[in-house]
Amino acid sequence: MSERKNIHFFYRKGSQFEEQIIRLKNLAIDNGFTLVEQADNANIIASIGGDGTFLQAVRQTGFREDALYVGVSTGQLGFYCDFDIEDISGMIDAMLNEQVEVRRYPTIKVNMENDASFYCLNECSIRSGIIKTLSLDLYIDDLFFERFKGDGMIISTPTGSTAYNKSLDGAIVDPKLPCMQISEVASINNNHYRTLGSSFILSDSRSLDIRLVNEGNNFPIIAMDNEALSIREPGSINIRLSDKRIKTVKLKDNSFWHKVKRSFL
Ligand code: NAD
Repeated sequence: MSERKNIHFFYRKGSQFEEQIIRLKNLAIDNGFTLVEQADNANIIASIGGDGTFLQAVRQTGFREDALYVGVSTGQLGFYCDFDIEDISGMIDAMLNEQVEVRRYPTIKVNMENDASFYCLNECSIRSGIIKTLSLDLYIDDLFFERFKGDGMIISTPTGSTAYNKSLDGAIVDPKLPCMQISEVASINNNHYRTLGSSFILSDSRSLDIRLVNEGNNFPIIAMDNEALSIREPGSINIRLSDKRIKTVKLKDNSFWHKVKRSFL
């Protein structure tokens, strides 16, 4: 870790943890790190908060592949938060004593018909923004796969598989598998409408196209992780696994599966 010395702290201003954050910054300086205001100049980006803050830290700093993202929790340890704000010295020790390995998490890329594109670390969600159901046509590569009618669809990364996807009974996916998982939110299944009804997983060579069926509900909420887009009539949405991977620390005895066990069992 010795070459990584420029550190940027990402947190909500006015945080109740301001005092601990100042201590953390001072300790970082005492240990030879340089604090930088602009995330662009940092090679370590430390997010202080919960998983939601980590998702925002990655998004607002542009999903940088050349930076190491470090999650520091202010509450319970989450999936992206390997360190606890109460254990600052443990964090500095780990970084300085090279106890950390780097792990790389897959992301997905969402291309909208108007050429705008976005990355997601947890998931892309497409949900009805009004009380009416949403109709979506799904194409896998060029194959028309199904017409969905219901509340929405969630396309998750492997690390996102333990988040929203899990609440929809999706499978938990090892982040070493480069793939994306598609899960339904309350599909209607009867003699008129039929969908697969279970989550399915696509490999990194597949592409998913989702087209809104114009049935009077043109107001989906489309969200990239925890950020909603204000897009009306989005046209076709293409989703595939991206080449971008997010680097974060891997501590001893804190693998993805340690976290799954710690959180859910
Ligand atoms: P937050 O930090 O308050 O997160 C909410 C909860 O989700 C926390 O318990 C957090 O630890 C957990 N979480 C977030 N990412 C996770 C992951 N990859 N694996 C396991 N748990 C995870 O912040 P937020 O901004 O509300 O979080 C956004 C995330 O919340 C979204 O990306 C989505 O995955 C999830 N979400 C879940 C549901 C649901 O389960 N019904 C609904 C909406 C959003």
